[in-house]
Amino acid sequence: MGEVWMPVRAACAQALALAFPVACAGCGVLDVALCDACRAMLRPQVTTRALADGLVVRSGLPFDGVPARVLRALKEEGRTSLARALGPALAAALGDGRGVVVPVPTSRAAMRRRGYRVAELLARRAGARPLRALRVVRTTADQRGLSRTARTDNVTGSLRATRRLDGLEVIVVDDVVTTGATLVEAARALRAAGAQVRAAATVAATPRRFPEW
Ligand SMILES: [Zn+2]
Repeated sequence: MGEVWMPVRAACAQALALAFPVACAGCGVLDVALCDACRAMLRPQVTTRALADGLVVRSGLPFDGVPARVLRALKEEGRTSLARALGPALAAALGDGRGVVVPVPTSRAAMRRRGYRVAELLARRAGARPLRALRVVRTTADQRGLSRTARTDNVTGSLRATRRLDGLEVIVVDDVVTTGATLVEAARALRAAGAQVRAAATVAATPRRFPEW
């Protein structure tokens, strides 16, 4: 039966894809990449959090509900056009702050999987001119499921600046902040190269699930 039905199922999937080329990334309603109701849920609500080393991170949205689903569609489903809708949240988080925007770099594995750099793309859609000043020098385990301490151990020493940045004022940018371990590591690597790290900014912040420092 499988031999007969597999092609039929494939044909059905193909026909469906042709009939309904897109669905809203926030709620799944058909024929629109992002519906008006979900777009309204992406209006910036900036929150501020201080990370381990005193680095302050500002985030434009809660990583929850519609914003979380839209970010996942951008990151995991290749829907890069959604970056434009998330741009205002990151722009709000960046504020009018001075400093060159440096995105958290994309690992080679993620680049192979996705074909684009999420943080850098979002920075551009926020109207910034990102400087690619960091690179991944050590691969890390998936941060999901790790405790705060384990996350810090996992990422420490994983990034390095691509050049000297003496005296340059920078703002580190990423898509989401969870514990902040990656942003702290990015700031450490930038400072090691002489940069002055003013702050960090992300599109979204996870609700606090970890005890504070
Ligand atoms: Zn929707």
